[in-house]
Amino acid sequence: MIEVHFHNSLTGKKEKFSPADPKHVTVYSCGPTVYNYAHIGNLRAFLFVDLLRRSLKLLGYGVDMTMNITDIDDKIIRDSIASKKSVQEFTSPWTAAFFEDLKTLSAETLEHYPRATDSIEEMVDIVHKLKEKGFVYEKDDSLYFSIQKFRDYGKLSKIDVSGMQTGTRYDTDEYEKEDVRDFVLWKAPKLEGETSWETSLGTGRPGWHLECSAMIRKVYKAGVDIHTGGVDLLFPHHENEIAQSEGAFPEETFVGIWLHSEHLLVDGQKMSKSKGNFYTLRDLIGQGLDPKAVRFLLLSSHYRTKLNFSTDRIGEASSNIRKLQNCLDRLLEASPTLKPDPEFLFQDASVLTWKKEFEEALADDLNVAKALATVFESVKAANSFLEAGASDSSQRTEFIHLFSFYDRIFGILNFEYSKNLIDSEIESLIAERQDARKNRNFARSDEIRDLLSAQGILIEDTKDGIRWRRK
Ligand code: AMP
Ligand code: ZN
Repeated sequence: MIEVHFHNSLTGKKEKFSPADPKHVTVYSCGPTVYNYAHIGNLRAFLFVDLLRRSLKLLGYGVDMTMNITDIDDKIIRDSIASKKSVQEFTSPWTAAFFEDLKTLSAETLEHYPRATDSIEEMVDIVHKLKEKGFVYEKDDSLYFSIQKFRDYGKLSKIDVSGMQTGTRYDTDEYEKEDVRDFVLWKAPKLEGETSWETSLGTGRPGWHLECSAMIRKVYKAGVDIHTGGVDLLFPHHENEIAQSEGAFPEETFVGIWLHSEHLLVDGQKMSKSKGNFYTLRDLIGQGLDPKAVRFLLLSSHYRTKLNFSTDRIGEASSNIRKLQNCLDRLLEASPTLKPDPEFLFQDASVLTWKKEFEEALADDLNVAKALATVFESVKAANSFLEAGASDSSQRTEFIHLFSFYDRIFGILNFEYSKNLIDSEIESLIAERQDARKNRNFARSDEIRDLLSAQGILIEDTKDGIRWRRK
């Protein structure tokens, strides 16, 4: 197995990835808050999760992955009350829209998508553990985590808590606190008609940070090998997750490696709902843009670099996909019935080198930009091979499988040969088949027969020579 390195936000260093069980790598990713359509900045963060998943699988790991659905928070409460719907009625169409977007972008389905509202019991458990250990205080019926009691507070974000000024707001939760740096664990209801739960902690609802700590516990009964999220979640959200989980379960490792994906920008500014500078996937499809190109663009730069969005860049992504697909179509033209075999054993020395370079680039902290350089180098070689007549069918098969190997990450190519042949092309293929038979090149003559038959073309030998017709 190839050695994998990830940049761990906790240590600020690239580290060798060594999960306890390579056949069962556990990953938790912060998911969407379902009160509106996701914008494509959010989708960049979610496609990063897809990249991580596909890369781990390609590199030989088994994965067990979770993304939570935040279906209770201040905005959801505000908007559900305004629309006179229950929280569940309000959030379920947005949850469905989120899954549709992931499908449109060809993201693989993860093993678990827990909802915050299904994990209340685990949240209550964690708060009780924290209470026992003295991390919790109460104010106006709400419960808060006292960060000065947690020695390691700040270890992820490297924030110096002692320098934080009183009166500065570090958290979006709108509650009064004993110390501005503290965060809410359990919120007493404030609004008329607000959804709340009757629990042993009292009536209320969870703070946002608590949701993730609880869902990790609910799914894995302990910590995870990898935790991901967008960089804006590093502080305070992930810092607070650490405080809660490690505070409650000090004997366990909460997270092995923290991965944070960078933002999608528009004109140099973070794409965000509040700035209004955002596009949803539906906006872009409505403008006639191809979701595959959106996927390719969002995946194509390194996850730790900012990516500037523009429709021109989607155009570039489209033309790069076309380059790949055209080359693949030409390869498939001569082998139209070939179905790529995931177990294919590569033999060709150059193809093996490209495959290895591609794997090594991904194993180096998911360096997609480097992996793409290899992809385009091999496309250039495949094009030269095609220009030279592409007569070596085993070489062609190697290239097709190499493309299919790349596509396990990118998910943008079509391996169904679908070109409709025109009459003159059919006639020239029939002539080529006659020549091949004369030269006893039966492999090629069979290939042409399959190609024609896949197009629904029947060939008949008559006393006046070969005739053909469409079925
Ligand atoms: P939310 O639904 O607002 O909780 O955000 C979901 C995910 O999208 C989080 O991981 C955020 O860090 C991420 N995110 C938000 N804005 C952007 C952006 N402009 N670019 C990349 N990721 C983003
Ligand atoms: Zn989270």
